[in-house]
Amino acid sequence: MMKPIRVLQWGLGAMGGGMARLMLEKPGIQIVAAVDGRPDYVGKDLGAVLGVGKQLGVTVTNQPEAVLKKENVDIVILATTSWTKEQMPNLRQVIMAGINCISIAEEMSDPEAQNPELAKELDDLAKQHCVSVLGTGVNPGFVLDLLVVTLSGGCHSVERIEASRVNDLSPYGPTVMKTQGVGTTPEAFKAGVADGSIVGHVGFPESIHMISAALGLGVDRIEQSREPIISKVHRETPHVVVEPGMVAGCAHIGIGYRGDKEVIKLVHPQQIHPHLENQDTGDYINIYGKPEIHMAIKPEIAGGIATMGIAVNMIPHVVAASAGLKRMIDLPTPAALMGESAYRRNV
Ligand code: NAD
Repeated sequence: MMKPIRVLQWGLGAMGGGMARLMLEKPGIQIVAAVDGRPDYVGKDLGAVLGVGKQLGVTVTNQPEAVLKKENVDIVILATTSWTKEQMPNLRQVIMAGINCISIAEEMSDPEAQNPELAKELDDLAKQHCVSVLGTGVNPGFVLDLLVVTLSGGCHSVERIEASRVNDLSPYGPTVMKTQGVGTTPEAFKAGVADGSIVGHVGFPESIHMISAALGLGVDRIEQSREPIISKVHRETPHVVVEPGMVAGCAHIGIGYRGDKEVIKLVHPQQIHPHLENQDTGDYINIYGKPEIHMAIKPEIAGGIATMGIAVNMIPHVVAASAGLKRMIDLPTPAALMGESAYRRNV
């Protein structure tokens, strides 16, 4: 049997906790350390924090320097924030300890898109310390970028791409409701977009930059728009109530242009309980080229489950990768890690 890959899980929230539980099912992966800042987690056994009904012999710490030892850890999974800039101190610390890293921060899926100087710093630092760093997740990282790129694999030419992800926000917590403007009035939504408190989806510049780079579409400008999805009916989740006339979600569009030509259009309407107005969820990719390709996945690929899955499934590929900052288009395609051969695809 292969030697398990030793993982430090940093961030034990909805995603990080789920990844940790998933890793416990994988014989090729061993969790050797866990970091989180929450006072109610620090000092507890990871098994108790995850609620798996057994001790795991790993104590959660808020002192990453105590556990970032390359003799003991092959890779760190960071599940703490959406923003590259905010994560930089942690990323520097992991890389300078000589340890590989996967981040699910949306902006880390292609940091060159919005933070080219930070992307260069990460790439240089990773090469200097002989480690690899990857940003991934369901979206950005998979549905509206890697899947699009992969589907174009048999095309002779591509004129234009339009892809959309219609999803249900109901399972998410208060932070997501706030950043999507759910439960506000249309006026408050407009004000929130203007002052930056309502952001909609994080990841369009990254996805568009990645698709354009992979195909050579030459996108030189990206524009985004965010409109309120106004509910006609009463909708409710444990965290928010939406009455008719109020905002149930955010219809966010990102467009990549080459000169005046629209070459990539990504559409992501996100709302709570879309079925209450007969809206099905789904992922749709349309490639206009030779040949024309239309793909529909209904319902949507479940976001939380798939984020945990992709981050964990990429672990062996990041450990085996050459040094530097990587995007999903740079590494072997993700596949469920079900047996030994899955761990050895780029060794
Ligand atoms: P969450 O709020 O449930 O969990 C975050 C956890 O990280 C918390 O337990 C918090 O205490 C801990 N934390 C934050 N900063 C820390 C730090 N510096 N040191 C130690 N612990 C720290 O969030 P979540 O739902 O697990 O998501 C995590 C991030 O991943 C979010 O920003 C989310 O937007 C992003 N995300 C990306 C994708 C994608 O497709 N790329 C998908 C899902 C989530």
